[in-house]
Amino acid sequence: MTPNPEPYSPEPRFTWPDGKKCAVMISFDVDGETTALSEDPALATHLTTMSQCEYGPKVGVPRLLGLVDHLGIPSTFFIPSFIVQQHPEMTRTIVKSGHEIGAHGHLHEKLSTLSSEEEKAVLAKSIDILEETAGVTVQGFRAPWFEINPGTPDLLVEHNLLYNASMMSDDVPFLHSNGLVEIPGQWLLEDWEQFAFNPDPAWGFIPEDCDKVYQLWWQEFAAMRDFGCCFVLTLHPWLSGRPSRVRLLERLIRDIQSTGDAWFCNGSELANWVKQDPGNRREIDFDA
Ligand SMILES: [Zn+2]
Repeated sequence: MTPNPEPYSPEPRFTWPDGKKCAVMISFDVDGETTALSEDPALATHLTTMSQCEYGPKVGVPRLLGLVDHLGIPSTFFIPSFIVQQHPEMTRTIVKSGHEIGAHGHLHEKLSTLSSEEEKAVLAKSIDILEETAGVTVQGFRAPWFEINPGTPDLLVEHNLLYNASMMSDDVPFLHSNGLVEIPGQWLLEDWEQFAFNPDPAWGFIPEDCDKVYQLWWQEFAAMRDFGCCFVLTLHPWLSGRPSRVRLLERLIRDIQSTGDAWFCNGSELANWVKQDPGNRREIDFDA
């Protein structure tokens, strides 16, 4: 075999709108206090832990919403309906600003701990609360902790959802056999692994330097652009709403914008693009 001296540039995985080379979806999981409460309801009396979670909807969301508006990009906020009930005006402001809200459980329940009947009830309740509070039709879902059950895709279609943003088997969207669009994520593009820390309960690690995280995320963006992929960033306002991380995001998004190669979209715009023409996807799985 002879080495090729040219850079490796495989066929792009997808055809994106307006001749763009890749898609970029900036998403926020506004878990607030449900991060703690879904782990153990007794944590409700751990006021410092609860207050760290509360920082997300209280300070992180307004600041991050200001950032995405300032940069002129669409985004999707997945919000447990318990948090929507605690922060109805925050939820309505996100929608009024032109951003999408998506379902994310009621109390951020781990789906694997629920029976199918319980999962169905939680999904119905969470969609109802989001829709009644914000006056919108919910189209997307991200599973709390990113983990779904075998019956989840059918349940989402039964509740008229267009897409799920929870799986990790690809780096471009795909269609489930029931027509549900999947927008895959990955742990590399998650802020929890970089920034989360709480001593008790023990969450995360020593928070990382923003310059290191910029490099991590920028390098993945640059390669995903070369390979025609879909860059889905998953951010938690209690982590990414802290000042130096807002600056990190501003730098990252501006640098992505300056390439002119990225289609910035929210979840439903992305899912509709996939639905409209599944032929935009280029299969590379040898056994597909
Ligand atoms: Zn979450």
